[in-house]
Amino acid sequence: MGAAEMLSGRYIALARSHTDRVDSLSTGQDPDGASHGGSDTSGLDTALLDQMPEAVVVCSLDAVCVHVNPSLERHLGRPRQELLGRRLWELHPEWTERSFQERFRQVVRTGESAEFERHAEPQDRWFVKRLFRVHERVVLFSRDISAEKKQEATLRALYDEMRRAQRHAAFLAQASEVLASSLEHDLILQRMAHLAVPILGDACSVDLPMPDGQVRRAAAAFSRQEMVAPAQDFQTRYPIRLEDAAGIGKVLRTGVTEFTPDFPAMLAAAQGGSSAYRRDVEALGISAYIIVPLISRGRVLGALTLLNSESRRRYTEADVRLAEDLARRAATSLDNGRLYTEAQEAVRARDSFLSVASHELNTPLTSLMLNIQALRRDMEPRASNGPASPEALSTKVVAVQRQVSRLSSLVRELLDVSRITAGRLRLEREDLDLAALTREVVPRFTEDLARAGCALHLEAGGAATGHWDRLRLEQVLQNLLSNAIKYGRGRPIEVRVGADASRACLSVKDQGVGIPPEGRARLFQRFERLASERHYGGLGLGLWIVKQIVDAMEGRILVESVPGQGSTFIVELPRHPA
Ligand code: ADP
Repeated sequence: MGAAEMLSGRYIALARSHTDRVDSLSTGQDPDGASHGGSDTSGLDTALLDQMPEAVVVCSLDAVCVHVNPSLERHLGRPRQELLGRRLWELHPEWTERSFQERFRQVVRTGESAEFERHAEPQDRWFVKRLFRVHERVVLFSRDISAEKKQEATLRALYDEMRRAQRHAAFLAQASEVLASSLEHDLILQRMAHLAVPILGDACSVDLPMPDGQVRRAAAAFSRQEMVAPAQDFQTRYPIRLEDAAGIGKVLRTGVTEFTPDFPAMLAAAQGGSSAYRRDVEALGISAYIIVPLISRGRVLGALTLLNSESRRRYTEADVRLAEDLARRAATSLDNGRLYTEAQEAVRARDSFLSVASHELNTPLTSLMLNIQALRRDMEPRASNGPASPEALSTKVVAVQRQVSRLSSLVRELLDVSRITAGRLRLEREDLDLAALTREVVPRFTEDLARAGCALHLEAGGAATGHWDRLRLEQVLQNLLSNAIKYGRGRPIEVRVGADASRACLSVKDQGVGIPPEGRARLFQRFERLASERHYGGLGLGLWIVKQIVDAMEGRILVESVPGQGSTFIVELPRHPA
């Protein structure tokens, strides 16, 4: 027996087992006397239809129901007695729709079957419907395909997710290339912003926190030229501040991503802010944004902002992850750039230091040689005008002494640098009085002060005792005093010592050349000299050494200065080590 016969055999058996029921139900119900003995007058096997899991209605060509199966009864929640003999349109709200009725009529007219899907909103279920014409009957099959639909949706979501992951991976690969293409800070950021638009948003910007507390926009890119001017205007009118309660300032301050998928809704719900500000924000037409921090080695180096404006695209968590990934790479790249610049800077400083150091050492050495030669000549008996007077000899010896002491202090500074750099700055702490120490050191500068024409006012009355390293404190005093004399333009110098219960304080104030604000960060760095070499000698090491000593004693050094009016260096030391 072939498969077809087997099937039809089964159908016949099924049809027989239902014959009685179908007969009883259809008798008197069918206006055309349609179903009899398990088959419709048109030859349809109604008993077979009754077995089907799909809901089935058999109608006459003018849409009068002649047979319904139990599945349809269940689906409509009504017994077949109530359904048979009525027009199809009266049975279900969906079938009252014109589009459905037109489809029905078309099937009647053309004899071609129709298949379509329907979504039942209230129950959120999907059905596939089929209309067939068989001779003088139209059969409607309705099958619940919600499970398949759900599966399909899951598969589609998986596929979309995979495609997005692929796109993101490709984007990040491209971004990595761009980020590695240069070590120059702003160039890297500019390229990154251009890469992000329009793939990740309609606009992208990168903002950096500056040492002075301001925020600098290092890069910006827009998908449409007409967005540029309003964005710039807005930024000028409302500059970003690190203390802002939300937005870029907050991300820079906290290092935490900010993600707003529906900006207009957020704005509507937000309290506060002037109406002008709200109007200006709305005018930007932002629909959603993501702000991610650029963090490297625990430091927030900047913030990357992605904006969607009118574009239909919606941001999701996946976009946030991508933006964070991009920001991580950008931060590493920035850090590499910074390290490279620092390394270059260090090499430059070392090279310039070598030339400064040789010049500084050579100057006293040349004068020393000249003075020694002159002394030798003076002491030769064959000197044309006789041996030099003891006074003349003594002047030259004093000069020799000064040059030797200058040389030895330069060499000491150099030795200190190598010692401190190698981590060998050891403190020999003892109980001492900073006021007494200052009173002791100041007189050693009497000659230098006189040569520079500077008066010195010392205020160190009360004791300022503590547990410090005497020689290292002397060095701090000497360096600050000699700088005040060197850069003090012959004006009065004030030295003050004071103390409270926990700290002692030393300040050295001059009225000299002062220090420009942009030079202050470099002041305490090794080999840094702000003043011109031609006017002032020095290795650029003194303040670096002072800071290392003060740091080792757990204190701090501050500087206040007005260029052209003078500088005050303030050293604060805890009186007892922690
Ligand atoms: P230097 O040996 O060059 O004086 P320092 O480390 O002592 O080295 O000082 C570093 C730089 O700081 C100097 O080159 C100078 O430009 C500036 N500086 C230091 N002290 C003063 C001061 N009292 N007034 C103005 N500038 C100063």
